[in-house]
Order: sequence, then structure tokens, then C-alpha cells
Amino acid sequence: MSSKTLYKGFTMIDGTGGKPVSNAWFLVEDRTLVKIGKGDELSSTKDVNVVNLDGKVVMPGLINSHVHITMEPVGDPFSLLMSESLAKTALRGVANLKKHLLAGTTYFRDLGAPGGVDLALWDSVNEGLIQGPEFLASCKVVTMTGGHGWPMGREADGPNETMKAAREQLKAGADVIKIMATGGVMTEGVEPGSPQLSMEEMKAAVTEAHKAGKKTASHAQGTEGIKNAILAGIDSIEHGIFLDDETIELMIEKGVYLVPTLVAPYFIVEYGVEAGVPKQAVDKSEMVMGSHMESFRKAHEAGVKIAMGTDAGTPFNFHHAAPHELKLMMDCGMTAMEALVSSTKISAELLGIDEEYGTLEAGKFADFLVLDENPLDNMDTLLDINSVYKFGELVK
Ligand SMILES: [Zn+2]
Repeated sequence: MSSKTLYKGFTMIDGTGGKPVSNAWFLVEDRTLVKIGKGDELSSTKDVNVVNLDGKVVMPGLINSHVHITMEPVGDPFSLLMSESLAKTALRGVANLKKHLLAGTTYFRDLGAPGGVDLALWDSVNEGLIQGPEFLASCKVVTMTGGHGWPMGREADGPNETMKAAREQLKAGADVIKIMATGGVMTEGVEPGSPQLSMEEMKAAVTEAHKAGKKTASHAQGTEGIKNAILAGIDSIEHGIFLDDETIELMIEKGVYLVPTLVAPYFIVEYGVEAGVPKQAVDKSEMVMGSHMESFRKAHEAGVKIAMGTDAGTPFNFHHAAPHELKLMMDCGMTAMEALVSSTKISAELLGIDEEYGTLEAGKFADFLVLDENPLDNMDTLLDINSVYKFGELVK
């Protein structure tokens, strides 16, 4: 059998934001898109396997910038995580990896996992022991004593300690450093709006990450904490619930990305206390949802770079649910095409993998989705993907 495969006859959405191309084709060899065209440009198909995708739509695999692969999206994921063995957590991660891949996520970024489980999962995917998307791992989140996410974090106070905390994660093998700038919804006793690690504390951790050539992401919901994170040199604001004009301007000026995760509070409110979500988390989510959407709308209008992330693993925020985030982003002002580009090209840029991933262009890896309908007309088609290809291989 030939090692070259020609896929043809489909409508291509290449992830760059350009117009869809009808009757498109590409040639895949050695995991990579080697040639792309349309119509009958490719004359010879000698020694080439041919796959007809007539009537289908092909787009790049989704890149989810904010996932918790070890978390189970039950009512109270933290309590479950803290009460089970790391072995069980790892097995949960194995199952969740498959869910992401089958739902069209071909790359993601994990932003907080206990006990090095994320790294072990990544090693296992890389060795071919288990099936899953590729991903970047943050290891433990850096948080102040008693701060947001502390049960699965590395508590650190003062710049010397946050520096050391970042170095510990880098030593362990982290690809990205996650830093808590504010309180959050899920941790009891902390408020989403209140600042936590100071600018100086975050700056010390960010500096270490950047020295090692790694990026940083900040859980940042309240305005003051968001500003602290931006001034500390952070690469992305996660959630960004209370953005004001000043923080939006600063984000544009410094090229900071927003990863909104609109679905996270949305599902907490949708399912509510009846489904087992702790009341304090439901109350806080109800309180912040309006501001969250308004902040997204303003940031998008102003031109902030927005990368798609779901916070999968939080209550009822399922590991296959990325399309719901795209739909919410559209409810808050994005066009369908903008939502797709945010979920492919822009996410790849934020993750620093855009030379090889994120768009369907010659020279990049053949990570793509085959859809029965055009998502520009009906985003729900992403909830029922025809087939997923990772490195040019059909995922089964
Ligand atoms: Zn998160």
C-alpha cells in the first residue's frame, strides 16, 4: 500500500478565516499535508490511495486551550479528585483523552492536574500506549496559600516562592505555567472578583517560565487581578469575567490572549444544585454570567485575540462539549467563521504550535475533521463529527 493518500471532493475550511474552497483536495504523506489544491489540478494519482469526500466539509482539528483532563465533570469534581487515588485519576484521564479526540479535539492545553498525572498521560500518548490528542501540560497550578485551586495546586507566597514554584513545575516537565491571579467559582470561600497572587508574585513566576521558553496562563476573573496578571507579563487571561476598558486596552497593547471558557459558569447554572453542584458555586456562577458575556462581547469588538477554551472537567462541562463554547461565543457576537478560527488558528498561536498545527496548509500536520454539514451554516454538525484524523490517520 502506498504511503500517500489523496483526499478529494470536499469543501475546505482551512482555519485561516479565508473563504471556503469547494471541490478541494489535499495529499497526505508521512503525517503531513504535502500538497493542497482544488479541482483537477493534481493530474496523476499513480501510487496514491484515494479517499473520496464528495459532499463533505473538511476543517482543521479543534484546539482547546483550557482543559482539565483529569477532572470528571460531575457536580463537585474537586471533591471527587481529592478523594480518589492518583491511579484512578490517571485512568479517568485515559478515558477523557479518548473523548476529546473522538469529539474532534486534536490538540489541547491542560491547565492544572494533580500529582504529575498530566505528564504521565502525555508520555503514554506520545509512546502510543494510549490514544488521545497531543497536549501541553501545566502540572500543578501556582496559587497563594488558600487561593483558588489550592487542593490541586502548589501554594506559594512571596516572589521567591512563586519563582521556586514555577521552577518546580518546569523541572517536572511542564510546558506552560498556570498562575492564579484571582479567586474563582469552584473553590469554597474565595471570591471570583478578589485579587490573589500579587503582580510581583506573578511576575517572578512568569519570568521563570519565559526564561525557559514556556508560556504562562492566568486564571483571572476580577478586574484588579486581571490587570495584575497583564502587568506581570502573562500570555493569556483565562475566563476574564470582569474586563474593563483599561484591561482590554492593555491586552491589545501587550498582545495578551483571552480564553473565555463561557461554558464553564453556563453549565454550572444550567445543571444547578439539583444535579449536585455545590450551592456556593452555583450562586457565584449566576452572579458572574452576565458580566462574563458582556466582557467577551467588549473584548471581541475591541479586537482582543480570543482563543477557544472550555475548562472541560468543571461541573457538567463535558470533555466532548467544545461545540457548545463555539455556540456561546457566537451568541456573544462572533461570526461562525470567527468562532472556527478562534478554535483552530488562534488557539494554535496561543499554544505556540502554529508552525505545525491549527490550519490546513502545506507543511502542517494532517489533523482534520470530516463533517456532514457546513459548520458555517449549522455549528451543531460539530456535535456529531463524521470522522476525525490525527496525523493523517483515521481515529477509530
Ligand atoms: Zn480551569
